Amino acid sequence: MTSSVLMTTGIIFNIQRYSIHDGPGIRTTVFLKGCPLNCWWCQNPESQLSGQEMVFWEDRCIGCGACALNCPSKAIQIKVGKPVTNKNRCDLCGECSRLCPAQAREIIGSKITVDEVIKEIEKDLIFYEESGGGVTFSGGEPLSQSGFLEILLEGCKEKKIHTAVDTSGYIPWKILERISSKVDLFLYDLKIMDDKRHKRYTGASNELILENLRRLSLIHSNIFVRFPVIPGINDNDQNIKGMGEFLSSLKITQIDLLPYHYIGIDKYRRLERTYKLVDIRPPSEVRLSEISMILKKFNLKVKLRG
Ligand code: SF4
Ligand code: SF4
Repeated sequence: MTSSVLMTTGIIFNIQRYSIHDGPGIRTTVFLKGCPLNCWWCQNPESQLSGQEMVFWEDRCIGCGACALNCPSKAIQIKVGKPVTNKNRCDLCGECSRLCPAQAREIIGSKITVDEVIKEIEKDLIFYEESGGGVTFSGGEPLSQSGFLEILLEGCKEKKIHTAVDTSGYIPWKILERISSKVDLFLYDLKIMDDKRHKRYTGASNELILENLRRLSLIHSNIFVRFPVIPGINDNDQNIKGMGEFLSSLKITQIDLLPYHYIGIDKYRRLERTYKLVDIRPPSEVRLSEISMILKKFNLKVKLRG
């Protein structure tokens, strides 16, 4: 269990209202920061680090130099008309972001209390009731802030708000087990069955993920498995059949196919990180329907785009 401060305060990087792809009905999705995996196709690279971080929108910068001039830590130098930040010096005080006239600098991640999140979620109660929706906690890996998440889930339960948790499953079983009774729906990511390839493309073994899913399916009755379809990486027949075989031995509600897209590529540049999948394109509708057919042969309920 994390400390009491961490249980009532967490770090999130977005709250998205009117989501329709993160579980049933109209939902509010709360994105928590921090993830133990490092998937090559991650569309939310700003979610990966657990703390706050700075992003720089180079195309917005007008080269005025106000950030360099006012940085209390002298962390910014103007080189060839553009600011370059020394991350070792920057303490994320936010002064440059506050003063930038072009909104070219932004601190990603805000500290927020449980009460503040619940207040935001409650704004759309009427939509949840009418559409059968609720709130989805996503990330990053929301369970990497399990103490904070647990109190949020309890707060939603008190107010009878339907909850979903979108997890990579790469967390100690005792944490998953502890929160499972407080979650109405799990959105559980499954990516690659071959452990060697899983390690290569996510940075971690899939053993814990598969074992956690097996155990979770014994104690929870509503699990949607989410399969991000990444051409050339996990869309081959062998992986799909392996997944079908494994899932058909468990009790899961459905499997959602989430076709790869590259909308998040620009974020890598702003965060000064390398995007490794530059040559990959989204899967064709034909391939998606072939994948769906293979999985259905294992008596699984398959849904395209969740
Ligand atoms: S966040 Fe603060 S310390 Fe970091 S570059 Fe901006 S002004 Fe300097
Ligand atoms: S204050 Fe903003 S616009 Fe001016 S140099 Fe810095 S980042 Fe660019």
